[in-house]
Amino acid sequence: MSSARFPSAAGLARPLLPASEKLLQMGCGVVDVYQHGLWRALRIPIPVSRALGRLLHPIALPLVAAHLTLLAGAWWALRRLIPDSLAFSLFGHARLVAGLHGRLIDRILVAGVLAPAVFLLEYLWMGWDECSVRRLLIRPTASARSDLACFLAGLTPPMTLLSTAMSLGIVLVSGEWFRHAIVGATGLDLSVAAWPPVGQTAVLFVVYSLFDFFSHRLDHTRLFWPLHRFHHAADDFTVLTAARVHPAAFTAIVGTTLPGILVGASADALADLALVVMTIRLVIHSRIDSDFGWAGRWIIQSPRHHRLHHSLNRLPINLSLLPIWDRLFGAWRDAPARPLPIGAPTPYRQGAWIGPDIWRDYGEFWTGVWRLALGRRPSIPATVSVANELQS
Ligand SMILES: [Zn+2]
Ligand SMILES: [Zn+2]
Repeated sequence: MSSARFPSAAGLARPLLPASEKLLQMGCGVVDVYQHGLWRALRIPIPVSRALGRLLHPIALPLVAAHLTLLAGAWWALRRLIPDSLAFSLFGHARLVAGLHGRLIDRILVAGVLAPAVFLLEYLWMGWDECSVRRLLIRPTASARSDLACFLAGLTPPMTLLSTAMSLGIVLVSGEWFRHAIVGATGLDLSVAAWPPVGQTAVLFVVYSLFDFFSHRLDHTRLFWPLHRFHHAADDFTVLTAARVHPAAFTAIVGTTLPGILVGASADALADLALVVMTIRLVIHSRIDSDFGWAGRWIIQSPRHHRLHHSLNRLPINLSLLPIWDRLFGAWRDAPARPLPIGAPTPYRQGAWIGPDIWRDYGEFWTGVWRLALGRRPSIPATVSVANELQS
């Protein structure tokens, strides 16, 4: 029997996508009528009634409910069905993997709670046409496919191994080693471990964002740019662009390790910081078109300010999650309200198979190291399109 008479599974699924979009649009129509009638009478502010309408959408609401049910099921299964430590034999040697629950919960929190929460926030704020889920799942661009591949790969142990190998083990640098070296050299022990958890996390965030400012500044130098450029190569934002990071981009990891050690924070405060930072990173790469008002100008970077950062290519502007550091070091610029084009001038293959892009950038980084060792400058293409426009 010829295969031409029977469409493939992908062929069967294709018409479902436009159909699902149609269904969504019909749902939006129903919601519009509903909110115009009832909520206008209740005098609910328009942005709030719009967000409520999107939440009560006939497809969105069951999806959110299904997600929460799945999450609760996964939580139950993890506790009841999977042991916390696993003993097995490999090549005749007994092995023990302990703390499985902790590792899985970390991943469930990011993939099952944090990312979906930001997806939902973005959908409520911007609507279906502008949300990342549509760009990632329904009509993915090649760049969005890279974002998704990086996010999924980042949740798996092989990516951690690749990251360790490509950074020559630098990502494993022990924080305790630094702490002992600093206390030994200066006698200064700035431990905040006895502080209440919220205070610790707040101090930690301030110190972290300072280190992050400098490690991000380093990323924008000629030497480190090839490793950071992979992140800037996204030609449009999705929430998951936050996870599109080169596995060898070790400057950020060193910047993450040091602050916790310097302030001697507790393990709980470090875990809280990781969640706060991850949430902010997901939000600033979202399609939410806002500068967050005065908060975005002083306290927390906004998606619009981060979009300006991406549009300026290698120019080190709006580097920090805490705008105060950018202002202090002369790296802050207010973001225009119009949509800015983003992406690296270097051509990227993009798509779900990220191997060639990662390998090419890794090669360029080592070529730069080699040139530096010979006393020459690492070469870099210097196309800065939007920056020139803004400066003129
Ligand atoms: Zn950057
Ligand atoms: Zn970014």
